[in-house]
Amino acid sequence: MADKLSPETITAQAGGLIDDTSGAIVPPIQTATTYIRDPDNQYRRGFVYGRPDTPNVRQAESVLQQLEGAQACMLLGSGMAAATTAFLALERPAHIVAPEVMYWALKKWLADDARTFGIEATFVDATSVEAIQKAIRPGHTRMVWLETPANPTWGVSDIAAIAGIAHQAGAILGVDSTSATPVLTRPLTLGADIVMHSATKYLNGHSDVLAGALAFARKDAIFERAARHRANLGAVLAPFEAYLLLRGMRTLHVRVRHAAASALTLARHFAQDPRIVEVLYPGLQSDPGHAVAARQMQGGFGGMLSVRVKGGEQAAIRTAANVKVWKRATSLGGVESLIEHRASVEGPGTPCPADLLRLSVGLEAPADLIADLEQALG
Ligand code: PLP
Repeated sequence: MADKLSPETITAQAGGLIDDTSGAIVPPIQTATTYIRDPDNQYRRGFVYGRPDTPNVRQAESVLQQLEGAQACMLLGSGMAAATTAFLALERPAHIVAPEVMYWALKKWLADDARTFGIEATFVDATSVEAIQKAIRPGHTRMVWLETPANPTWGVSDIAAIAGIAHQAGAILGVDSTSATPVLTRPLTLGADIVMHSATKYLNGHSDVLAGALAFARKDAIFERAARHRANLGAVLAPFEAYLLLRGMRTLHVRVRHAAASALTLARHFAQDPRIVEVLYPGLQSDPGHAVAARQMQGGFGGMLSVRVKGGEQAAIRTAANVKVWKRATSLGGVESLIEHRASVEGPGTPCPADLLRLSVGLEAPADLIADLEQALG
């Protein structure tokens, strides 16, 4: 039956979970770290110990697995834990092709630390299928990694086309779909093999949980290795966080659609503002990624956009200092709107323009967000 239900129904009802003992329509938080063994030495109820697996984590995983159309899903303690676990699950030595512009901390890990684990990354313009094709080393490249739309300039990668060339060369495709969410894009249906989320962002949606997720097209050797790494390296999600995440996911569709509609309104508005050099948002028809985004995203272009402020870095920092409604903070995907001078966070070597402000559009009235940014631009 669950297979026939719409994604909105699955999230609203948290997969239809009812507590067996009490009939409660909200699953209880199971804090136990250990589980009773059957008298004949079996563990028929399926739980042994809190590190490999717990009921609350499994519940949230089953909802996300259905949303992504995955064969298996795994929650971890953060988005970084999820992404690094996916890389560490590759056979070594491993060559990876990754975007020049992607979530900065993950790029730094790939550039600075991954080598010590036998992983070498080549960074390319991932909005160009040709650039990825050129960077792939057949027989050596084990994975192509994408983030789409990508932090913080929101370039769009063609998942279906890149899945094709990755597979041809014997590599798999992993997609950081944090900003798109399964509401707007389902990478596995476009040929991706692994989808990763910082569930800290839209999936939870309330800026109060750190979590990460991997969804797998197949329950294969890579999945098995990733599950072992989660259990043995211990990058697990605690039961309370899993409970909050499941609760947050119940409203995922309304939150993401609202944020995407507001972001489009803001993008169109500020594209006309002479104090703004450029609005970066794939929902704008003038955006270089618009055609691909319109093909692979359904129901909106996401709640994230960036603006480049006339007057350069100092003007951008001054604008962020002047806001009253927007919250000046890092992160994204929460109910409250955030503004950030992104280059300050990323530091030396960042490809992020110095005049760029990253905007995470929340659920406030768009008119309030527009008026506040208007007055902050001065
Ligand atoms: N991927 C993207 C696109 C992100 O924005 C982030 C965090 O900002 C991460 C991955 C890392 O997630 P976490 O902070 O949950 O470890």
